[in-house]
Amino acid sequence: MSAPSAADPSHSRYTESPVPVDILGLDREALEGLFAELGERPFRARQLLQWLHRRATSDFQAMTDLSKGLRRELAERVHFTEPGVRSEQVSADGTRKWLLGLEDGQAVETVFIPEADRGTLCISSQAGCPLDCKFCATGYSGFRRNLGAAEIVAQVRHAHREVGDRLTNIVFMGMGEPLLNYEPVRRAINLLLDDCAYGLSRRRVTVSTVGIVPRIHQLGRETPVNLAISLHGVTNAVRDRIVPINRSYPLERLLQACRDYPLPRGRRITFEYVMLDRVNDSPEEARGLAELLHGIPAKVNLIPFNPFPEAEFERSPSEVIDRFRDILLERGLVAVTRTPRGEDIAAACGQLQGNGDRAAAAEGRA
Ligand code: SAH
Repeated sequence: MSAPSAADPSHSRYTESPVPVDILGLDREALEGLFAELGERPFRARQLLQWLHRRATSDFQAMTDLSKGLRRELAERVHFTEPGVRSEQVSADGTRKWLLGLEDGQAVETVFIPEADRGTLCISSQAGCPLDCKFCATGYSGFRRNLGAAEIVAQVRHAHREVGDRLTNIVFMGMGEPLLNYEPVRRAINLLLDDCAYGLSRRRVTVSTVGIVPRIHQLGRETPVNLAISLHGVTNAVRDRIVPINRSYPLERLLQACRDYPLPRGRRITFEYVMLDRVNDSPEEARGLAELLHGIPAKVNLIPFNPFPEAEFERSPSEVIDRFRDILLERGLVAVTRTPRGEDIAAACGQLQGNGDRAAAAEGRA
């Protein structure tokens, strides 16, 4: 991957960089910078964005409204990430999971979840994850590296080619912690929102985070899309244990960042809460959760725990989950229990490992 400084317009980094720029990860501002260096007019950026993203063209020669000279120059100077599809799996419920191979041999998983009224693409921001949340298979698989903006956007580009306009929503809920890879994620979001690229409204893009507090503030200032918080505990004692990053960013600071966050109009912050048998699922904790979220425009997603071999937890029984949800509802909160999607292809929350092996094994069992 290339050009980690591509968001900094203050010095020449497109034409002098020893590594060619990865063009798929450049947002409009960065592309305008590139064209300025090539002596081209800024509106070329819009044309190129349409070719690369909306029309998913990979061949510069096909971009017939750019001059021949410019096409040649682009083909020579810039680099192009086109991850290969290592595998595709389709669940009985219609969920599709792709394992995309990157140039250095790493791989990332991307999941498309069709529903009646929308199609959500769940994308990865890192290969593996540096956090070690105790109930998440990605954490167990370890951290390999950050993805570049191009590698993040390439997942969307691939899915858009496959499913077209059925893709309506994007969630950063695949592998990795998006707010620990902030700058590439921010540039990828710019492309998702850009009319010439994917043209999504910011109400249809959601960043999910375990709670990297300073970056939540920064996201709110710079690109305020929807926010989802992986909460999972209502006391610091429980959260310290199952989401260890809580020791750095405890609940009080996290909830304050949520209160301060400038949500898109009419939106609520989603709080994700994985239901772990006898760990965080008591009625008392449900009441605690309602108290904690008081005054925040919130929606609670209760996620039945999805097991994986190394995990030391079990899923809460469904009556316990129902009781927990009812306590939240009685207190006026919006709360739903999420139906696990794509379980049969290990595409459900917390099951992505980026190696495809377990997925293949699961398919063998099915
Ligand atoms: N790191 C970010 C993005 C990943 S989102 C975050 O934590 O928000 C993945 C979601 O699935 C998170 O809410 C995570 O807590 C949840 N999850 C992880 N492992 C799970 C499991 N085994 N069962 C159910 N949900 C899980």
